[in-house]
Amino acid sequence: MNPLLLDVPPAEWNLPPAEPWREKQLRTWVFERFASSFQEMSNLPVPLRADLAARFRMAAVETVKIQGSADTTRKILWRLGDGSLLESVLIPANPGRDGNRSGRLTLCVSSQVGCAYGCRFCASGLDGWRRNLTAGEIVGQVLGAAKIAGRRPDNLVFMGMGEPLANLPRLRAAMEMLTSPEGLGIGARHLTVSTSGLAPQIEELARVPGQFRLALSLHAGTNETRDKIMPVNRRYPLEKLIPACESFARAKRKMITLEYILIRDLNDSPDEARAVVRHARRLHAKVNLIPYNTVEGLPYERPAEPAIRRFQMVFRDAGVEATVRREKGHDIDAACGQLRLREEKAAFPS
Ligand code: SF4
Repeated sequence: MNPLLLDVPPAEWNLPPAEPWREKQLRTWVFERFASSFQEMSNLPVPLRADLAARFRMAAVETVKIQGSADTTRKILWRLGDGSLLESVLIPANPGRDGNRSGRLTLCVSSQVGCAYGCRFCASGLDGWRRNLTAGEIVGQVLGAAKIAGRRPDNLVFMGMGEPLANLPRLRAAMEMLTSPEGLGIGARHLTVSTSGLAPQIEELARVPGQFRLALSLHAGTNETRDKIMPVNRRYPLEKLIPACESFARAKRKMITLEYILIRDLNDSPDEARAVVRHARRLHAKVNLIPYNTVEGLPYERPAEPAIRRFQMVFRDAGVEATVRREKGHDIDAACGQLRLREEKAAFPS
């Protein structure tokens, strides 16, 4: 299989040396017009298009299915070159009368096929880890989604399938293409990397230039509770994780977000909330509370509304910002990995 154009350094594209403008033309087709084939590139000579098509693949992702929801969130199921399935989610904020066109558009991007981290509540971990995405496949989701939406997303969150920090070298290469003026030119502060808590890689990310943001999937205030739902916590318990996040916050001078999926009778007690308050204060972080989205085949449930309000009240009383995020697209398979899992089960019933 030919490599993806975006996984090959431009110096190796072998464009005609006497025509230095060709690289710029090619980049315009890729990053501004979201071309999915070399054939579309009408201002490139036909022989050059044929030569490029013989050596490279242009589109990293092929659309398998778009699942829309009543609130206009769209979940996109992609197929990669090797047949693997992958998901991204397009999330419009405050869509105007014209649908998605005037409001901000966020894209939730995947970084791996499957995931090795096995968080107990997550669909992506159910099937284990298959492989890392290449940088071109990470960027390809953004380009494919831009083509579907008719415009470039404003914000990117690496929060889809996979643990982005377990694929850090390729994530960094993708972030470079996404932020570079010669690439998509999205401001680094509009990129958020979400991690389950890989402390050494958080420290490494803190040293990477750029004002991008960090979201920590905390999901528990104590090691005791976190150990029950996130195996990664045994390797990087809170006494290692929180100082790593402190280093990031210090290096970037940016507020970290603590993501907290609220699961009934597991991590929704006021005592657990008070433990989270202590971490949030230490990190000067804000907290996103996300009532759990049921995943077929998993035993967890969303807390009742009074328990959600009681949990949030602990933060309010402590003066820590904590919002309840009603997950957009909760009427589609919104928890990461669910749409892919459903499709794979349909294609390969056990
Ligand atoms: S929550 Fe994230 S890190 Fe945990 S299993 Fe799911 S995809 Fe992996």
